[in-house]
Amino acid sequence: MRTEGRPPAAVCEGVVRIYWSRSGDVHALKGVDVVVPAGRLTAVTGPSGSGKSSLLRILAAQDRPTAGRAEVAGEALGTLSVRRLRALRRRHIGYVFPRPAQNLSPHLDGREHLALAARFRGVPRDRARHEAEELLDRLGIADRADHLPGELSGGEQQRLAFAQAVIGGPALVVADEPTGELDSATTADLLAAVRELTRTGTTVVLATHDPLAAGAADQVVHLRSGAVAHEEVAGRRLAVIDGDGRVQLPEEALRRFAARRVQIELTDDGVVLREPS
Ligand code: ADP
Ligand code: MG
Repeated sequence: MRTEGRPPAAVCEGVVRIYWSRSGDVHALKGVDVVVPAGRLTAVTGPSGSGKSSLLRILAAQDRPTAGRAEVAGEALGTLSVRRLRALRRRHIGYVFPRPAQNLSPHLDGREHLALAARFRGVPRDRARHEAEELLDRLGIADRADHLPGELSGGEQQRLAFAQAVIGGPALVVADEPTGELDSATTADLLAAVRELTRTGTTVVLATHDPLAAGAADQVVHLRSGAVAHEEVAGRRLAVIDGDGRVQLPEEALRRFAARRVQIELTDDGVVLREPS
């Protein structure tokens, strides 16, 4: 499957998500701009509480932005009815939870999981069977496919969860800390398998704390306090300027400006921030 020329799998523009709770409002996302390119692996990183899960729930069409625009698989979430949102999730989004046990049913073996997921997505039966075998093979669990989840290792269970999320070719597979409970060797294996999926055109977004996972990604979106602090593409770290001209300084730069005020100087080859004299 080609990735060039395909429209992005998802686009967020100025996405704000506020949670109203009894102890006060939480501004979990404060104007996030993200483009999720099709057929690529995007990692969302950031400290705990930085808004990773909030962003992923929106990308997975499980939640709508409080303000701003989110488009997933070509549909603007803000204008969809609850019924159409559900249909969008069912047809076009695969989701992987952090804990293996959340993804799988204890009474179904690997093949049964995939058959059920394919039926749910409306994939014709013979195509589903063929696709399931191909996926099991590509994820390296073909010889484990007759086993129940309880008989699989954590890594094998997460591979099956990815196979289940991918079958039927959703526009987007969203995985929230899928390697959170795996050791580093198993994490590396799972990531290699996920990379292999993107090679055949699947789009994956995963949230992670793990530098290993971020290293495997084509693009890294780093969140800090509900905003995009920087992006990394092809090994280059780029700060992001939002639609209103805001930039988040890296922590090491921020420390230089204790009073949080700067003089901005435009030069021929850039912009310099200085402590006010
Ligand atoms: P992360 O996944 O990076 O740890 P989250 O998106 O889960 O971040 O959380 C971002 C912020 O939003 C945190 O301060 C968290 O406590 C808060 N939050 C998340 N979900 C809810 C909710 N349902 N109600 C209230 N606050 C929430
Ligand atoms: Mg989270």
